[in-house]
Amino acid sequence: MSSERAPLERTYPLLPLRGLLVFPGMVIHFDVGRDKSVRALEKAMVQDHYLVLASQQDGQVDDPRQEDLFGVGVLAEVKQMMKLPNGTLRVLVEGLERSKIQNYVRDDEYFEVQIQRFFISDSADMDPELRAVTRTVLQQFEQYAKLSKKIDQETYGTVVDIEDPGRLADAIAAQLPLKIKEKQEILESFNVSERLDRVLSSLADEREVLELEKEIHQRVRKQMEKTQKEYYLREQMKAIQRELGDKEGRQGEIDELRDKMANLQLPELVAMRVDKEINRLERIPISSAEGTVARTFIDWLLDLPWTAKSVSIIDLGRAQRVLDAHHYGLEKVKDRIIDYLAVQKLTQRSAGPIICLVGPPGVGKTSLVKSVAEALKRPFVRISLGGVRDEAEIRGHRRTYIGALPGRIIQGMKEAGVRNPVFLMDEIDKMANDFRGDPASALLEVLDPEQNFTFVDHYIDLPFDLSDVMFVTTANDLYQIPGPLRDRMEIIQLSGYTELEKLEIAEQHLLPKQKIAHALKGERLKLNEDVILEIIRGYSREAGVRQLDRLLATVARKTARQVAEGKKKRVQITVQNLPDYLGPAQFNYGAKEEYDEVGVVTGLAWTPAGGDTLTIEVAALSGKGKVVLTGQLGDVMKESAQTALSFVRSRSRELLLDNDFIDKTDIHVHVPEGAIPKDGPSAGITMATAIASCLTRRPVRHDVAMTGEITLRGRVLPIGGLKEKSLAAHRVGIRSLIVPEGNRKDVLEIPKSVRDELEIVFVRQMDDVLKRVLLPAVSDAPSSLEVYPGFTQGIHEDYPGQGARQ
Ligand code: ADP
Repeated sequence: MSSERAPLERTYPLLPLRGLLVFPGMVIHFDVGRDKSVRALEKAMVQDHYLVLASQQDGQVDDPRQEDLFGVGVLAEVKQMMKLPNGTLRVLVEGLERSKIQNYVRDDEYFEVQIQRFFISDSADMDPELRAVTRTVLQQFEQYAKLSKKIDQETYGTVVDIEDPGRLADAIAAQLPLKIKEKQEILESFNVSERLDRVLSSLADEREVLELEKEIHQRVRKQMEKTQKEYYLREQMKAIQRELGDKEGRQGEIDELRDKMANLQLPELVAMRVDKEINRLERIPISSAEGTVARTFIDWLLDLPWTAKSVSIIDLGRAQRVLDAHHYGLEKVKDRIIDYLAVQKLTQRSAGPIICLVGPPGVGKTSLVKSVAEALKRPFVRISLGGVRDEAEIRGHRRTYIGALPGRIIQGMKEAGVRNPVFLMDEIDKMANDFRGDPASALLEVLDPEQNFTFVDHYIDLPFDLSDVMFVTTANDLYQIPGPLRDRMEIIQLSGYTELEKLEIAEQHLLPKQKIAHALKGERLKLNEDVILEIIRGYSREAGVRQLDRLLATVARKTARQVAEGKKKRVQITVQNLPDYLGPAQFNYGAKEEYDEVGVVTGLAWTPAGGDTLTIEVAALSGKGKVVLTGQLGDVMKESAQTALSFVRSRSRELLLDNDFIDKTDIHVHVPEGAIPKDGPSAGITMATAIASCLTRRPVRHDVAMTGEITLRGRVLPIGGLKEKSLAAHRVGIRSLIVPEGNRKDVLEIPKSVRDELEIVFVRQMDDVLKRVLLPAVSDAPSSLEVYPGFTQGIHEDYPGQGARQ
């Protein structure tokens, strides 16, 4: 071994190393430049190439003294030396063995020392513990080498081939990136197992550091990849925008919004909000979906008429003219509207109590309100409240919901474009409420002039002033409007039209409008009065004129087609050719019962769509006194039927019925059309008449219709909706009505043209009703519902039916 070549008990030149430590067994080259070091090297070269290498404690010291050097170094042999062009020397040395510096012989020109040398014993028989440690060190080193990039396969191979544990420890220590101080500690470990321990702990430390490094590296790489990807996509987006001519990306949009905002007179609160939102939008990356949400919100704020108002002067004469021009009749309603406008003009307020127009469909509610808007020169907007069951539909959703939008009020205001439109809310009676909050209470706030100047929509989230809006509502059924709302409104009732009125409306308004809409000028379409009457009677059965309008549109459309196809120049519609245009007639005019029948009576009903006739049928079957009620009758109507039956039983004697007839008879009361729900007490006398007729087998006059509530003692109480009911009776051709005495005052409401054609009989007592309508019995009547053609008509005066059962 080379160590044996080094002579004992002599002095060696010493070369101080900085930032470097050479272990025994290590071959390394480094540059030597300091004068003192060069001289030590020269000395070694002239001797036998041996010198001592000792590390400096502090690498910064340029001219080290003895105490700056560690006390243990390594004896080394210089293998090669060459001079570099800049005057420094490059040497290749091999560390031989640990040497403890005993004393410095000189330290002037260079260091020269005496040392104590430590030979390496080739310990052939290692104790088991040492072997175990050695193996662990090897394992740890293997793992370390795998992680570290600095150790190549060859170095690894040479290191693990070393059999001597002390040498092995040195070789591994030499590979580790340790601080000089730590390396020095290993160098100073003369005891082999102590040295292995130190190396083992350093290895473990380093391995941990490497693992951490690796983990961090991976994390960083992932992050880098993500940022790079985003960067790449954003660049691509920019490129696309550039291609599309949108050079500045969002900046253009932002500038546009700021411009728009500057040109609007926004209230301060709103302006602040818009400004804040625009700033926020500016910071949202162009690719983010949040941008759209923010943009939509800003658009809403900018589009709402916060301050814009249309100049509106209330000119009563003009209002009257506009209303008259578009609407036939409706004098009372027009009067009420003009009154309302007059009050507004005097009080200088744009919003007073809310008008609610109540009446069946197609009677002109919407078109009246449109005319009011036209008269006042204000924009008209309309929303339908039918089926609204959620408060949010009125008041909007909070913006935290995906796809949130303002409620219908704010949507209507945007559509109006000014803050003082005429705002129609249709079908206020068709609102429902459920667990999602009560739309009616939200509406209360909207309609209340005390509150509505700071209406807050959940989406807009800023107070909006609704106090200049003229709200008008419509409903079909007054009683379906939630109570608190009804109290707050001024109700104006419209009822159905008479045939004559419909005729006038059709001739003056509907037909001219349809002709214009279908470009049928002059004489191209001719439709005489009798044809219109036929359309009214045979094709429409309604209180209003909506269906009529549609039918006239159909006629006009078909005519237009014939003209356009060049088949005809002029079309004259007659009662005969009408079916060619509208098909066969739908209704049999005067669809009253055609014969006097037993157990069948015509009643009258009020419905939200106007009045209607109602047939009541009763059958008596042998049984045990059961009462069956069918035809979807409501509770009130069912009770009314029971009362009617009890009344008839109380009149058994007068009606010549057996006292115990009820024990042997089942009574079935049916009201066709069975699928339509019916309710209310006003069919009481009708049911009593039908029951009496059925049990006595006395037919009922078919040309009489009746309405009235019945009490147990047979009194007839007044009912509602007389006007609609009489119009309905008139419509089907019935000319004789039986009406409670209590309704006498309402008769004046019935249009004169109808009233003049009706015979109206007022009654106080049920007995009077029976007296008037029950005809003499037919003894051979086989069934209660059988028809008796040709039975004599006329008022039968001999009630209680003398000799009815002969
Ligand atoms: P509602 O709102 O009551 O359901 P609309 O206002 O929609 O009814 O009326 C339906 C159609 O009938 C409209 O074309 C309307 O102009 C017309 N109309 C209704 N009543 C009259 C009337 N008195 N004079 C002229 N046209 C009428």
